[in-house]
Amino acid sequence: MTDSLRRLVVITGAGLSAESGLATFRDAGGIWSLHNLAEVCNYSVWRRNRAKVFDFYAKRKEEMLAASPNAAHRCLAQWQQQWGVDRVQLLTQNVDDLLERAGATNVGHLHGELSTLLCDHCYRKFDIGRGPVDPTLACPLCHEVAPVKPGVVMFGETSPGYHRLGDAIDGLEPEDILLVIGTSMQVIPVSRLVPAWRTGHALNWQVNPAPAEPGYFGWNLAASACDGLPQLEPMLSQLMSD
Ligand SMILES: [Zn+2]
Repeated sequence: MTDSLRRLVVITGAGLSAESGLATFRDAGGIWSLHNLAEVCNYSVWRRNRAKVFDFYAKRKEEMLAASPNAAHRCLAQWQQQWGVDRVQLLTQNVDDLLERAGATNVGHLHGELSTLLCDHCYRKFDIGRGPVDPTLACPLCHEVAPVKPGVVMFGETSPGYHRLGDAIDGLEPEDILLVIGTSMQVIPVSRLVPAWRTGHALNWQVNPAPAEPGYFGWNLAASACDGLPQLEPMLSQLMSD
């Protein structure tokens, strides 16, 4: 039985992968300002811009493949291996595979992932692994090509990952630890990350060079993910062993 054991729910944003060299989308100079996002990240018009959409995500995938997991990815993967996937839930807004390459499993990708394509006709999601984001690939179920899109959630598109986020947040017990890393909380607001009853809870922890919404957290560590996570480890080890 693991019901009585303290759990750790981790929610990460772009800051986790920033130190691996992957662009923080919303930072000045990030890729959001370099491309016309209204064309390539917009569900309502993606089919009209299909070639640009595939080109955009193919470039993101090339960057991902050239990047390596950093100390923070390895820290999270190690915690999950140490205490088990039932006790350590990893949820990320990142579309890269760096947590998996660090050894993590069962990662919840709230905004999809670059390792999949999605058929917008029959909604079959299929894995392309480290292969190219290729616009000529057909859906394995309905065999159509035109409705196939990158498996990254666009603005205006429903994210199935949000159900998993809701379940994780709703399932938090008072003794559980909620750790939010490297997100500005602009895409997913803090009200969806921290249940109202846990506002300011001592076991709500945030690691961010510039902590956002600090009043919701009992501990705000102003540090990058790579610098901050090792600092949490002694207290985390003690709490998870209680
Ligand atoms: Zn299909």
